[in-house]
Amino acid sequence: MTDRFATCGVFLLLLVAAVMPSLAGGAEATWKAGVAKAVITPEKSVWLAGYGTKRAPDGKLHDLWMKALALEDDAGRRVVLVTSDFQGVPKSMSDRVFAQLQEKYGLEREDLLITFSHNHCGPRLGDDLVDYYPVEAEQVALVEEYTTQMVERMVAMVGEALGKLAPARLQTGLGKATFAVNRRNNVEADVPAMIAEGKPLVGPVDHAVPVMTVTRADGKLEAILFGYACHPTTLSFFTWCGDYPGFAQLELEAKHAGATAMFVNTCGGDQNPLPRRRVELCERYGHELAAAVEEVLARPLEPVSPGLRTAFAYVELPYLQVVSREELFAAQQGENAIRARWATRLLEKIERGETFAASYPYPIHAWRLGRQMLVIGMGAETVVDYALRFKREFGPGTWVCGYCDDMIAYIPSRRVWEEGGYEGGSNLYEYGRPALRWSGEIEDRIAETVERLVGDVRE
Ligand SMILES: [Zn+2]
Repeated sequence: MTDRFATCGVFLLLLVAAVMPSLAGGAEATWKAGVAKAVITPEKSVWLAGYGTKRAPDGKLHDLWMKALALEDDAGRRVVLVTSDFQGVPKSMSDRVFAQLQEKYGLEREDLLITFSHNHCGPRLGDDLVDYYPVEAEQVALVEEYTTQMVERMVAMVGEALGKLAPARLQTGLGKATFAVNRRNNVEADVPAMIAEGKPLVGPVDHAVPVMTVTRADGKLEAILFGYACHPTTLSFFTWCGDYPGFAQLELEAKHAGATAMFVNTCGGDQNPLPRRRVELCERYGHELAAAVEEVLARPLEPVSPGLRTAFAYVELPYLQVVSREELFAAQQGENAIRARWATRLLEKIERGETFAASYPYPIHAWRLGRQMLVIGMGAETVVDYALRFKREFGPGTWVCGYCDDMIAYIPSRRVWEEGGYEGGSNLYEYGRPALRWSGEIEDRIAETVERLVGDVRE
Protein backbone atom coordinates (compact mmCIF):
# COMPACT_ATOMS: atom_id res chain seq x y z
CA MET A 1 0.00 0.00 0.00
CA THR A 2 1.40 3.45 -0.89
CA ASP A 3 1.47 6.31 1.62
CA ARG A 4 -1.26 8.04 -0.28
CA PHE A 5 -3.58 5.02 0.01
CA ALA A 6 -2.68 4.66 3.67
CA THR A 7 -3.63 8.31 4.31
CA CYS A 8 -6.81 7.73 2.39
CA GLY A 9 -7.54 4.63 4.52
CA VAL A 10 -6.98 6.55 7.76
CA PHE A 11 -9.28 9.30 6.50
CA LEU A 12 -11.98 6.74 5.69
CA LEU A 13 -11.61 5.18 9.13
CA LEU A 14 -11.98 8.60 10.75
CA LEU A 15 -15.02 9.31 8.60
CA VAL A 16 -16.62 5.98 9.58
CA ALA A 17 -15.80 6.62 13.24
CA ALA A 18 -17.41 10.05 12.98
CA VAL A 19 -20.55 8.72 11.30
CA MET A 20 -20.98 5.56 13.45
CA PRO A 21 -22.09 7.18 16.68
CA SER A 22 -24.80 9.15 14.90
CA LEU A 23 -25.98 5.97 13.15
CA ALA A 24 -26.01 4.17 16.48
CA GLY A 25 -27.76 7.17 18.00
CA GLY A 26 -30.45 6.93 15.33
CA ALA A 27 -31.04 3.28 16.16
CA GLU A 28 -31.05 4.01 19.89
CA ALA A 29 -33.78 6.58 19.51
CA THR A 30 -36.09 4.11 17.78
CA TRP A 31 -36.47 1.53 20.56
CA LYS A 32 -37.17 1.82 24.25
CA ALA A 33 -36.55 -1.03 26.67
CA GLY A 34 -37.21 -1.69 30.35
CA VAL A 35 -36.02 -4.66 32.39
CA ALA A 36 -37.17 -5.95 35.78
CA LYS A 37 -36.67 -9.14 37.71
CA ALA A 38 -38.00 -10.85 40.82
CA VAL A 39 -36.95 -13.79 42.98
CA ILE A 40 -39.41 -16.69 42.83
CA THR A 41 -37.65 -19.16 45.16
CA PRO A 42 -40.44 -20.43 47.44
CA GLU A 43 -40.10 -19.51 51.09
CA LYS A 44 -42.32 -22.38 52.18
CA SER A 45 -42.13 -26.09 51.39
CA VAL A 46 -43.78 -26.10 47.96
CA TRP A 47 -42.61 -29.28 46.20
CA LEU A 48 -40.32 -29.31 43.22
CA ALA A 49 -42.14 -29.90 39.95
CA GLY A 50 -41.75 -32.03 36.89
CA TYR A 51 -41.16 -35.60 37.95
CA GLY A 52 -44.05 -37.82 38.98
CA THR A 53 -43.13 -37.89 42.67
CA LYS A 54 -43.27 -35.92 45.90
CA ARG A 55 -40.13 -33.78 46.13
CA ALA A 56 -40.05 -31.55 49.21
CA PRO A 57 -37.25 -28.94 48.94
CA ASP A 58 -34.06 -29.44 50.99
CA GLY A 59 -32.38 -26.09 50.23
CA LYS A 60 -31.08 -24.17 47.23
CA LEU A 61 -28.00 -23.99 45.01
CA HIS A 62 -29.03 -20.53 43.87
CA ASP A 63 -32.19 -18.44 43.70
CA LEU A 64 -34.87 -18.90 41.06
CA TRP A 65 -35.96 -15.89 39.02
CA MET A 66 -38.52 -14.47 36.70
CA LYS A 67 -37.56 -11.58 34.47
CA ALA A 68 -39.39 -9.14 32.22
CA LEU A 69 -38.21 -7.29 29.13
CA ALA A 70 -40.52 -4.50 27.98
CA LEU A 71 -39.95 -3.07 24.50
CA GLU A 72 -41.51 -0.05 22.83
CA ASP A 73 -41.07 0.90 19.19
CA ASP A 74 -40.95 4.36 17.63
CA ALA A 75 -44.74 4.34 17.20
CA GLY A 76 -45.30 3.69 20.92
CA ARG A 77 -46.30 0.06 20.45
CA ARG A 78 -45.29 -2.06 23.47
CA VAL A 79 -44.61 -5.72 24.16
CA VAL A 80 -43.40 -7.57 27.24
CA LEU A 81 -41.52 -10.86 27.30
CA VAL A 82 -41.46 -12.71 30.60
CA THR A 83 -38.88 -15.46 31.13
CA SER A 84 -38.76 -17.62 34.24
CA ASP A 85 -37.24 -20.60 36.03
CA PHE A 86 -40.68 -22.20 36.38
CA GLN A 87 -41.18 -25.79 35.29
CA GLY A 88 -44.64 -25.17 33.89
CA VAL A 89 -47.05 -22.23 33.98
CA PRO A 90 -50.64 -23.45 33.64
CA LYS A 91 -53.34 -21.55 31.76
CA SER A 92 -55.20 -21.09 35.07
CA MET A 93 -52.25 -18.93 36.22
CA SER A 94 -51.26 -17.09 33.05
CA ASP A 95 -54.89 -16.12 32.35
CA ARG A 96 -54.96 -14.29 35.69
CA VAL A 97 -51.79 -12.40 34.75
CA PHE A 98 -53.11 -11.55 31.26
CA ALA A 99 -56.40 -10.24 32.71
CA GLN A 100 -54.69 -8.08 35.35
CA LEU A 101 -52.14 -6.63 32.93
CA GLN A 102 -54.87 -5.83 30.41
CA GLU A 103 -56.79 -3.97 33.09
CA LYS A 104 -53.81 -2.18 34.66
CA TYR A 105 -51.71 -1.31 31.62
CA GLY A 106 -53.92 -1.99 28.61
CA LEU A 107 -51.47 -4.70 27.57
CA GLU A 108 -53.26 -6.91 25.06
CA ARG A 109 -52.81 -10.65 24.85
CA GLU A 110 -50.74 -10.41 21.64
CA ASP A 111 -48.33 -8.07 23.39
CA LEU A 112 -47.39 -10.30 26.32
CA LEU A 113 -45.48 -13.55 26.15
CA ILE A 114 -45.09 -15.55 29.38
CA THR A 115 -42.39 -18.15 28.99
CA PHE A 116 -40.99 -20.75 31.39
CA SER A 117 -37.71 -22.62 31.04
CA HIS A 118 -39.34 -25.95 32.07
CA ASN A 119 -36.79 -26.21 34.88
CA HIS A 120 -37.32 -29.47 36.77
CA CYS A 121 -35.73 -27.99 39.91
CA GLY A 122 -38.41 -25.30 40.05
CA PRO A 123 -41.63 -25.23 42.10
CA ARG A 124 -45.13 -26.52 41.45
CA LEU A 125 -47.64 -23.96 40.20
CA GLY A 126 -51.44 -24.11 40.23
CA ASP A 127 -52.91 -27.15 38.52
CA ASP A 128 -49.89 -27.77 36.28
CA LEU A 129 -49.27 -31.56 36.17
CA VAL A 130 -51.78 -31.78 39.01
CA ASP A 131 -52.12 -35.57 38.89
CA TYR A 132 -48.35 -36.06 39.01
CA TYR A 133 -48.22 -35.55 42.74
CA PRO A 134 -49.76 -37.32 45.74
CA VAL A 135 -52.64 -35.24 47.10
CA GLU A 136 -51.88 -33.79 50.55
CA ALA A 137 -54.15 -31.02 51.84
CA GLU A 138 -51.29 -28.94 53.25
CA GLN A 139 -49.37 -29.07 49.95
CA VAL A 140 -52.47 -28.19 47.93
CA ALA A 141 -52.89 -25.06 50.07
CA LEU A 142 -49.18 -24.14 49.80
CA VAL A 143 -49.22 -24.46 45.99
CA GLU A 144 -52.33 -22.30 45.81
CA GLU A 145 -50.85 -19.65 48.10
CA TYR A 146 -47.53 -19.63 46.19
CA THR A 147 -49.29 -19.42 42.81
CA THR A 148 -51.33 -16.39 43.90
CA GLN A 149 -48.13 -14.77 45.18
CA MET A 150 -46.45 -15.41 41.82
CA VAL A 151 -49.39 -13.92 39.89
CA GLU A 152 -49.09 -10.73 41.96
CA ARG A 153 -45.30 -10.67 41.64
CA MET A 154 -45.40 -11.17 37.88
CA VAL A 155 -47.95 -8.37 37.42
CA ALA A 156 -45.84 -6.04 39.58
CA MET A 157 -42.63 -7.01 37.75
CA VAL A 158 -44.16 -6.33 34.32
CA GLY A 159 -45.38 -2.97 35.64
CA GLU A 160 -41.84 -2.20 36.82
CA ALA A 161 -40.35 -3.12 33.42
CA LEU A 162 -42.90 -0.87 31.64
CA GLY A 163 -42.07 1.93 34.09
CA LYS A 164 -38.38 1.64 33.22
CA LEU A 165 -38.80 2.02 29.44
CA ALA A 166 -35.88 4.14 28.22
CA PRO A 167 -33.99 4.51 24.91
CA ALA A 168 -32.08 1.40 23.89
CA ARG A 169 -30.56 -0.35 20.92
CA LEU A 170 -31.44 -3.95 20.05
CA GLN A 171 -28.98 -6.23 18.32
CA THR A 172 -29.10 -9.88 17.40
CA GLY A 173 -26.78 -12.76 16.56
CA LEU A 174 -26.66 -16.54 16.41
CA GLY A 175 -24.45 -19.05 18.20
CA LYS A 176 -24.26 -22.78 18.76
CA ALA A 177 -24.09 -25.26 21.67
CA THR A 178 -24.15 -29.01 21.24
CA PHE A 179 -25.06 -30.65 24.55
CA ALA A 180 -28.75 -31.25 23.67
CA VAL A 181 -29.38 -34.83 22.54
CA ASN A 182 -32.50 -36.16 20.84
CA ARG A 183 -33.81 -38.36 23.64
CA ARG A 184 -36.16 -40.35 21.40
CA ASN A 185 -33.44 -41.56 19.06
CA ASN A 186 -30.63 -42.30 21.52
CA VAL A 187 -30.68 -44.62 24.54
CA GLU A 188 -29.69 -42.50 27.54
CA ALA A 189 -27.52 -45.21 29.10
CA ASP A 190 -25.55 -45.56 25.84
CA VAL A 191 -24.84 -41.85 25.33
CA PRO A 192 -21.67 -41.49 27.48
CA ALA A 193 -19.99 -44.41 25.67
CA MET A 194 -21.13 -43.13 22.27
CA ILE A 195 -19.66 -39.70 23.03
CA ALA A 196 -16.43 -41.26 24.37
CA GLU A 197 -16.06 -43.42 21.26
CA GLY A 198 -16.88 -40.53 18.95
CA LYS A 199 -19.97 -42.30 17.61
CA PRO A 200 -22.52 -39.93 16.13
CA LEU A 201 -25.68 -39.32 18.16
CA VAL A 202 -28.77 -39.53 15.99
CA GLY A 203 -32.14 -37.82 15.52
CA PRO A 204 -33.16 -34.21 14.86
CA VAL A 205 -31.68 -31.55 17.12
CA ASP A 206 -31.62 -27.75 17.11
CA HIS A 207 -28.27 -26.61 18.44
CA ALA A 208 -28.84 -22.93 17.61
CA VAL A 209 -28.33 -20.33 20.33
CA PRO A 210 -30.23 -17.22 19.21
CA VAL A 211 -29.11 -14.06 21.04
CA MET A 212 -30.58 -10.58 21.35
CA THR A 213 -28.96 -7.77 23.32
CA VAL A 214 -30.39 -4.57 24.76
CA THR A 215 -27.83 -1.77 25.03
CA ARG A 216 -28.32 1.72 26.48
CA ALA A 217 -27.25 4.92 24.73
CA ASP A 218 -24.15 5.10 26.94
CA GLY A 219 -23.09 1.61 25.84
CA LYS A 220 -24.25 -0.19 28.99
CA LEU A 221 -25.43 -3.74 28.27
CA GLU A 222 -28.88 -3.90 29.89
CA ALA A 223 -30.12 -7.35 28.89
CA ILE A 224 -28.99 -10.48 27.09
CA LEU A 225 -31.80 -12.68 25.81
CA PHE A 226 -30.81 -16.11 24.57
CA GLY A 227 -32.44 -19.41 23.71
CA TYR A 228 -31.73 -23.11 23.46
CA ALA A 229 -33.79 -26.20 22.69
CA CYS A 230 -33.30 -28.62 25.57
CA HIS A 231 -35.08 -29.92 28.66
CA PRO A 232 -33.69 -28.45 31.90
CA THR A 233 -33.63 -31.93 33.39
CA THR A 234 -29.93 -32.33 34.14
CA LEU A 235 -30.85 -32.63 37.81
CA SER A 236 -33.65 -34.49 39.58
CA PHE A 237 -32.70 -33.86 43.20
CA PHE A 238 -34.63 -31.86 45.82
CA THR A 239 -32.65 -28.61 45.77
CA TRP A 240 -33.83 -25.35 44.17
CA CYS A 241 -31.77 -24.27 41.19
CA GLY A 242 -32.35 -23.17 37.60
CA ASP A 243 -30.69 -26.27 36.06
CA TYR A 244 -28.42 -25.49 33.07
CA PRO A 245 -30.29 -22.26 32.09
CA GLY A 246 -29.92 -21.04 35.69
CA PHE A 247 -26.16 -21.57 35.63
CA ALA A 248 -25.88 -19.98 32.16
CA GLN A 249 -27.76 -16.87 33.29
CA LEU A 250 -25.68 -16.53 36.47
CA GLU A 251 -22.44 -16.77 34.49
CA LEU A 252 -23.51 -14.14 31.96
CA GLU A 253 -24.70 -11.79 34.71
CA ALA A 254 -21.39 -12.23 36.57
CA LYS A 255 -19.41 -11.38 33.40
CA HIS A 256 -21.57 -8.40 32.47
CA ALA A 257 -22.21 -6.50 35.68
CA GLY A 258 -25.61 -4.82 35.71
CA ALA A 259 -26.96 -6.82 32.76
CA THR A 260 -29.94 -9.14 33.11
CA ALA A 261 -29.61 -12.50 31.35
CA MET A 262 -32.87 -14.04 30.15
CA PHE A 263 -33.37 -17.57 28.82
CA VAL A 264 -36.07 -18.99 26.57
CA ASN A 265 -36.43 -22.72 25.89
CA THR A 266 -36.94 -22.86 22.13
CA CYS A 267 -38.45 -26.23 21.06
CA GLY A 268 -36.78 -28.71 23.41
CA GLY A 269 -39.69 -31.08 24.02
CA ASP A 270 -37.76 -34.13 22.80
CA GLN A 271 -34.26 -32.95 23.74
CA ASN A 272 -32.34 -33.82 26.89
CA PRO A 273 -28.96 -32.71 28.28
CA LEU A 274 -27.10 -36.02 28.23
CA PRO A 275 -25.37 -37.44 30.16
CA ARG A 276 -26.99 -35.95 33.26
CA ARG A 277 -27.91 -36.19 36.97
CA ARG A 278 -24.76 -34.60 38.40
CA VAL A 279 -24.35 -30.96 39.47
CA GLU A 280 -21.00 -30.67 37.67
CA LEU A 281 -22.68 -31.70 34.40
CA CYS A 282 -25.36 -29.08 34.98
CA GLU A 283 -22.69 -26.43 35.59
CA ARG A 284 -20.82 -27.61 32.51
CA TYR A 285 -23.89 -27.30 30.24
CA GLY A 286 -24.65 -23.89 31.75
CA HIS A 287 -21.10 -22.84 31.00
CA GLU A 288 -21.25 -24.22 27.44
CA LEU A 289 -24.39 -22.21 26.79
CA ALA A 290 -22.98 -19.03 28.38
CA ALA A 291 -19.77 -19.49 26.33
CA ALA A 292 -21.84 -19.82 23.13
CA VAL A 293 -23.56 -16.53 24.01
CA GLU A 294 -20.17 -14.88 24.76
CA GLU A 295 -18.88 -15.95 21.36
CA VAL A 296 -21.85 -14.23 19.73
CA LEU A 297 -21.27 -11.08 21.81
CA ALA A 298 -17.62 -11.00 20.73
CA ARG A 299 -18.59 -10.74 17.06
CA PRO A 300 -20.35 -7.82 15.38
CA LEU A 301 -24.07 -8.09 16.05
CA GLU A 302 -26.83 -7.16 13.64
CA PRO A 303 -28.83 -4.08 14.71
CA VAL A 304 -32.59 -4.60 14.91
CA SER A 305 -34.33 -1.92 12.88
CA PRO A 306 -37.35 -0.07 14.29
CA GLY A 307 -40.88 -1.37 14.13
CA LEU A 308 -42.91 -3.86 16.09
CA ARG A 309 -45.90 -5.92 15.00
CA THR A 310 -47.69 -8.59 17.00
CA ALA A 311 -50.39 -11.18 16.44
CA PHE A 312 -51.95 -13.85 18.62
CA ALA A 313 -54.46 -16.65 18.13
CA TYR A 314 -55.76 -19.76 19.77
CA VAL A 315 -56.06 -22.77 17.54
CA GLU A 316 -58.22 -25.67 18.72
CA LEU A 317 -56.17 -28.87 18.86
CA PRO A 318 -58.47 -31.91 18.69
CA TYR A 319 -57.94 -35.00 20.81
CA LEU A 320 -58.00 -38.33 19.05
CA GLN A 321 -60.78 -39.38 21.40
CA VAL A 322 -62.14 -37.97 24.65
CA VAL A 323 -61.78 -40.52 27.45
CA SER A 324 -64.90 -42.48 28.42
CA ARG A 325 -66.27 -43.17 31.88
CA GLU A 326 -65.49 -46.87 31.42
CA GLU A 327 -61.86 -46.15 30.56
CA LEU A 328 -61.60 -43.94 33.63
CA PHE A 329 -63.00 -46.65 35.88
CA ALA A 330 -60.41 -49.07 34.51
CA ALA A 331 -57.59 -46.54 34.97
CA GLN A 332 -58.69 -45.89 38.54
CA GLN A 333 -58.12 -49.57 39.38
CA GLY A 334 -54.76 -49.78 37.57
CA GLU A 335 -51.22 -49.84 38.98
CA ASN A 336 -50.18 -46.45 37.57
CA ALA A 337 -50.62 -43.94 40.43
CA ILE A 338 -50.64 -40.84 38.20
CA ARG A 339 -53.23 -42.41 35.93
CA ALA A 340 -55.37 -43.50 38.90
CA ARG A 341 -55.35 -39.95 40.35
CA TRP A 342 -56.21 -38.57 36.92
CA ALA A 343 -59.12 -41.00 36.56
CA THR A 344 -60.46 -40.24 40.04
CA ARG A 345 -60.33 -36.47 39.45
CA LEU A 346 -62.07 -36.72 36.06
CA LEU A 347 -64.72 -39.13 37.38
CA GLU A 348 -65.52 -36.57 40.08
CA LYS A 349 -66.00 -33.98 37.35
CA ILE A 350 -68.38 -36.32 35.53
CA GLU A 351 -70.26 -36.83 38.81
CA ARG A 352 -70.67 -33.05 39.04
CA GLY A 353 -72.21 -33.04 35.60
CA GLU A 354 -69.18 -31.64 33.74
CA THR A 355 -68.52 -32.65 30.16
CA PHE A 356 -65.11 -32.62 28.49
CA ALA A 357 -64.22 -30.54 25.46
CA ALA A 358 -63.03 -32.50 22.42
CA SER A 359 -60.13 -30.09 21.81
CA TYR A 360 -57.74 -27.75 23.63
CA PRO A 361 -57.20 -24.02 22.87
CA TYR A 362 -53.54 -23.80 21.89
CA PRO A 363 -51.91 -20.33 22.12
CA ILE A 364 -49.65 -19.04 19.34
CA HIS A 365 -47.89 -15.67 19.13
CA ALA A 366 -46.00 -13.98 16.30
CA TRP A 367 -43.88 -10.88 16.95
CA ARG A 368 -41.89 -9.08 14.30
CA LEU A 369 -39.05 -6.91 15.59
CA GLY A 370 -37.72 -4.71 12.85
CA ARG A 371 -36.73 -6.50 9.67
CA GLN A 372 -34.31 -8.81 11.50
CA MET A 373 -36.34 -10.77 14.04
CA LEU A 374 -39.45 -12.92 13.94
CA VAL A 375 -40.42 -14.45 17.28
CA ILE A 376 -42.93 -17.30 17.16
CA GLY A 377 -44.22 -18.14 20.63
CA MET A 378 -45.91 -21.51 21.03
CA GLY A 379 -47.61 -23.05 24.03
CA ALA A 380 -46.47 -26.25 25.70
CA GLU A 381 -43.75 -28.79 25.05
CA THR A 382 -43.12 -28.48 21.32
CA VAL A 383 -40.74 -31.00 19.80
CA VAL A 384 -37.74 -29.78 17.83
CA ASP A 385 -39.39 -30.42 14.42
CA TYR A 386 -41.48 -27.25 14.88
CA ALA A 387 -38.43 -25.02 15.27
CA LEU A 388 -36.63 -26.66 12.35
CA ARG A 389 -39.72 -26.35 10.14
CA PHE A 390 -40.56 -22.72 10.91
CA LYS A 391 -36.92 -21.56 10.74
CA ARG A 392 -36.71 -23.20 7.30
CA GLU A 393 -40.00 -21.61 6.21
CA PHE A 394 -39.44 -18.10 7.56
CA GLY A 395 -35.68 -17.77 7.22
CA PRO A 396 -32.83 -16.24 9.27
CA GLY A 397 -33.77 -14.25 12.34
CA THR A 398 -36.64 -16.60 13.24
CA TRP A 399 -36.88 -17.60 16.91
CA VAL A 400 -39.31 -20.41 17.66
CA CYS A 401 -40.04 -20.49 21.38
CA GLY A 402 -41.95 -23.33 22.99
CA TYR A 403 -43.07 -23.28 26.64
CA CYS A 404 -45.16 -20.11 26.26
CA ASP A 405 -48.28 -19.16 28.26
CA ASP A 406 -49.51 -22.65 29.04
CA MET A 407 -47.84 -26.00 29.79
CA ILE A 408 -50.70 -28.14 28.30
CA ALA A 409 -48.80 -31.32 27.23
CA TYR A 410 -46.26 -32.51 24.67
CA ILE A 411 -46.97 -31.17 21.20
CA PRO A 412 -45.71 -33.80 18.75
CA SER A 413 -45.05 -33.09 15.11
CA ARG A 414 -46.75 -35.40 12.62
CA ARG A 415 -43.50 -37.42 12.45
CA VAL A 416 -43.32 -37.87 16.22
CA TRP A 417 -47.07 -38.60 16.40
CA GLU A 418 -46.68 -41.35 13.77
CA GLU A 419 -43.72 -42.79 15.67
CA GLY A 420 -45.63 -42.71 18.97
CA GLY A 421 -43.58 -43.16 22.14
CA TYR A 422 -43.49 -40.80 25.11
CA GLU A 423 -43.89 -37.43 23.35
CA GLY A 424 -46.13 -38.67 20.57
CA GLY A 425 -48.23 -41.42 22.10
CA SER A 426 -50.98 -41.93 24.64
CA ASN A 427 -49.70 -39.86 27.55
CA LEU A 428 -52.00 -36.83 27.74
CA TYR A 429 -53.36 -38.14 31.05
CA GLU A 430 -50.06 -37.13 32.67
CA TYR A 431 -51.00 -33.52 32.01
CA GLY A 432 -54.56 -33.92 33.23
CA ARG A 433 -56.15 -33.66 29.78
CA PRO A 434 -59.44 -35.62 29.31
CA ALA A 435 -57.92 -37.79 26.58
CA LEU A 436 -54.93 -40.01 25.99
CA ARG A 437 -53.73 -38.79 22.62
CA TRP A 438 -53.83 -35.82 20.25
CA SER A 439 -55.35 -36.18 16.83
CA GLY A 440 -52.72 -36.73 14.12
CA GLU A 441 -53.61 -33.45 12.40
CA ILE A 442 -52.30 -31.09 15.09
CA GLU A 443 -49.08 -30.14 13.28
CA ASP A 444 -51.12 -29.08 10.22
CA ARG A 445 -53.49 -27.03 12.38
CA ILE A 446 -50.62 -25.34 14.21
CA ALA A 447 -48.68 -24.64 11.01
CA GLU A 448 -51.73 -23.09 9.30
CA THR A 449 -52.17 -20.71 12.24
CA VAL A 450 -48.47 -19.88 12.52
CA GLU A 451 -48.35 -19.11 8.78
CA ARG A 452 -51.40 -16.84 9.03
CA LEU A 453 -50.01 -14.95 12.04
CA VAL A 454 -46.58 -14.55 10.45
CA GLY A 455 -48.33 -13.23 7.34
CA ASP A 456 -50.14 -10.67 9.53
CA VAL A 457 -46.97 -9.35 11.19
CA ARG A 458 -44.93 -9.32 7.99
CA GLU A 459 -47.46 -7.35 5.92
ZN1 LIG B 1 -40.97 -31.94 29.56
